[in-house]
Amino acid sequence: MVYDDQNIFAKIIRGQIPCEKLFENEYVLAFMDIMPQVDGHCLVVPKRTSTGLLDADPDVFSPLFAAVQRLGKATQSAFDADGVTIMQFNGAAAGQTVFHLHVHVMPRHSGVPLKTHSGTMEDIEIIKKNADLIRKALAMQEG
Ligand code: AMP
Repeated sequence: MVYDDQNIFAKIIRGQIPCEKLFENEYVLAFMDIMPQVDGHCLVVPKRTSTGLLDADPDVFSPLFAAVQRLGKATQSAFDADGVTIMQFNGAAAGQTVFHLHVHVMPRHSGVPLKTHSGTMEDIEIIKKNADLIRKALAMQEG
């Protein structure tokens, strides 16, 4: 599959459309998912382009998964979660809807199921409130 640089995450990385940003460095950008499957559902994208994991340069994995780990810990702490689901899809048949490599980070509570994937747009005020909690937890990590 050919990478299309007009996909929504490419536009977010270029700053052409807004996102609720959690953190950013030279390699990755982390932001809130606008159709969260749980409270605190967020995404990490590498800035280098690939449609998914299978066509990515393996050099992106180290900074990408370092960021996923950091966000996993921050969301666990921010939401006092019992666990954290890390999810990643490759290809429409696998459930992928945005064709720029990304990893889902979802804090989980025992007995609380995930809502539908790419289901319902969340109220922006709730997204901002949850983002604030995660940003605070990230700041605590930094000491
Ligand atoms: P996937 O199906 O793995 O490609 O997931 C794409 C994810 O991106 C879904 O969870 C969507 O809710 C989310 N999403 C789509 N558009 C946006 C956007 N503009 N900002 C943040 N998240 C988005």
